[in-house]
Amino acid sequence: MYAGASLAGARKLCARTTDIAINWSGGLHHAKRGEPSGFCYVNDIVLAILEMLRFFPRVLYIDIDIHHGDGVELAFYQSDRVMTVSFHKYTGDFFPGTGKLDDNGHGAGKNFALNVPLLDGIDDDMYLTIFKTVIEDTVTSFRPSAIVLQCGADSLGSDRLGAFNLSIAAHGECVNFVRGFNVPLLVLGGGGYTLRNVCRCWTYETSVLVGVNIPNELPRTVYDSFFADSQWKLHPPLSGRVENQNTPASLQKIIVGIRHKLRYLQGAPSVAMQEIPPDIQGFLKEEERTMEEMEDEISTASAGEQRVDSSVARNEFFGGEKDVDHDSPPTPPHSRGTRGGYRRGRGNPGAGDGGKDEYLQRRL
Ligand SMILES: [Zn+2]
Repeated sequence: MYAGASLAGARKLCARTTDIAINWSGGLHHAKRGEPSGFCYVNDIVLAILEMLRFFPRVLYIDIDIHHGDGVELAFYQSDRVMTVSFHKYTGDFFPGTGKLDDNGHGAGKNFALNVPLLDGIDDDMYLTIFKTVIEDTVTSFRPSAIVLQCGADSLGSDRLGAFNLSIAAHGECVNFVRGFNVPLLVLGGGGYTLRNVCRCWTYETSVLVGVNIPNELPRTVYDSFFADSQWKLHPPLSGRVENQNTPASLQKIIVGIRHKLRYLQGAPSVAMQEIPPDIQGFLKEEERTMEEMEDEISTASAGEQRVDSSVARNEFFGGEKDVDHDSPPTPPHSRGTRGGYRRGRGNPGAGDGGKDEYLQRRL
């Protein structure tokens, strides 16, 4: 359901029926294509970005959860159409253990994955300084046509799993700063393990995104007992419980490193979008059609052909000295589309045990 909501938000942005879409139940950034991870089963962020890439040439993904946005980074690690920027605690053994400054993409995606590894206890001033500097520079270089912002609330002070010192106001200022670029924006939730602060944070950030001031006094509700800790305030003091291990010098080193990578971009990559790729429903229809074609192909391929030796198993391959008749054109072992008989292929250099010039012949 949360993935459907992120996809629905992405579609609204693509259709230009909204400038900002919010799904606080989404933002499950750890899930991978082949495995669930860190309370994340489906990576709704990746699905939403894929949908957005049908219309937007470049998507910037920003992650302010205290954990590294590894699933999203991995999905687009080789793409220059998605820039991922993750601000997170990094000590090497803090979950998920990835996201060091030097990890910055691969192939076409080299320098399109940025990581801002931070230490325990970072305060509002330091966080906002490095966040605004890095994001400003990234937007200037990458010129995103849409932004996805993951707002994990475990980067707040007093979180049960996190160890930063951020206030709700500073966390919200990151959201406000991103909103200020006036680029189509998909805002998602994420982690957050002191629940009363998670709902305070995302309530405040909703107000920021819709441009409304809301009072610090919480209204009276049936949930009052959950918020008695702060005398029913929206902005309780959350900072100062963990010693700040970051220093101005350590942050400066990160900023220098990020700017160094951004210099390699040499302007935003251009994308030739001649036709809009199919959405998921279109893709499934295409898959269905391909399956039907393959079935048709198999039944046609086996029709009307000579059965040479019924003792030989179908699809068995012969090559080299075992190939006793030597009279048929060569066929590579994995060539497709053998409809109606043999087909000459390019071979498969380097594959198999028989050397690159060895052709195998197929008998049916
Ligand atoms: Zn997290």
